[in-house]
Amino acid sequence: ELYNKVLELKGNIRVFCRCRPLNTEEIASGATVALDFESSKHGELTVKSNGVLRKTFKFDAVFGPQAEQADIFEGTTAFATSVLDGYNVCIFAYGQTGTGKTFTMEGIDEARGVNFRTLEKVFDIIKQREKLYRYEIYVSVLEVYNEQIRDLLVCGSQPGVAAKRLEIRQVGEGVHHVPGLVEAHVTNMNEVWEVLQTGSNARAIGSTNSNEYSSRSHCIHCVIVKGENLLNGECTRSKLWLVDLAGSERIAKTEVQGDRLKEAQNINRSLSALGDVISALATKSPHIPFRNSKLTHLLQDSLGGDSKTLMFVHISPNENDLSETLYSLNFASRVR
Ligand code: ADP
Ligand code: MG
Repeated sequence: ELYNKVLELKGNIRVFCRCRPLNTEEIASGATVALDFESSKHGELTVKSNGVLRKTFKFDAVFGPQAEQADIFEGTTAFATSVLDGYNVCIFAYGQTGTGKTFTMEGIDEARGVNFRTLEKVFDIIKQREKLYRYEIYVSVLEVYNEQIRDLLVCGSQPGVAAKRLEIRQVGEGVHHVPGLVEAHVTNMNEVWEVLQTGSNARAIGSTNSNEYSSRSHCIHCVIVKGENLLNGECTRSKLWLVDLAGSERIAKTEVQGDRLKEAQNINRSLSALGDVISALATKSPHIPFRNSKLTHLLQDSLGGDSKTLMFVHISPNENDLSETLYSLNFASRVR
């Protein structure tokens, strides 16, 4: 209810911060926690280090290490209603690799994430509204890696088949389309689960270390909602984008060369492009630089206007990660 209030009162861009717990190795090695969650109820988070540095950041919500998947979802549940009401919605997970982006979006079997829970909510509301509206839901799963778009539903259902490179086409005023991208029609949560699994499995294909690879690509779920008001025949078409971004960690140029360097530069460029677009939207700048990356170009129709955007900024509690944590918090403060 608190979040619904936040949604009503504030603009269309919101930032939630989530901190993962220390993991077993960190606990065993006596890692120091560099964050203070005392005022997290008020959306505040304080970074402290050796009593020297103290800096407080403010977000629309702060979730400490104890927060559960259900708490996180409580903050995002209103977006399911928004997309069924005809609004476009983008939910991003941003942060250093290992801070819980995939945990938040995809989740694990025992603790499913935002992707599954949001779709579950979508189907709940469809059921509640069935006398007034008819809906059709389609799901696409794609990946942006090195500024190339790959269809994960094609790869996942036909292992070994080399993925076609997909392109973005503008098909009308403010309408962008990816020709050839599979849109799986889903009518219930069993079908949704199958599609999510297919996409998730496909991410691993073509790499020896799937975890490492997945941290260098953006994994994107696009839910297309076609609605029809049964009383007046009015139709809506809206999109919900669920984006597990590539890791935000900066890689020292001296450490990498060749393909790895190009990859790092592409990640860097697309995350900065996303930050630039969201902050330009937040400040109502007349020029929004959508074309600077595949990611922002792809999401162009769903960013700005009356669309709703939520950015999860994920951080580590470990003092050893402090410089990346500050980098992420500053990034998130800029888009707010
Ligand atoms: P990322 O996608 O940002 O690289 P992951 O989601 O893979 O990070 O998380 C790294 C590890 O930490 C995983 O084993 C994940 O299950 C665990 N983890 C992350 N966030 C949480 C959390 N809030 N609670 C419990 N475990 C978490
Ligand atoms: Mg991940």
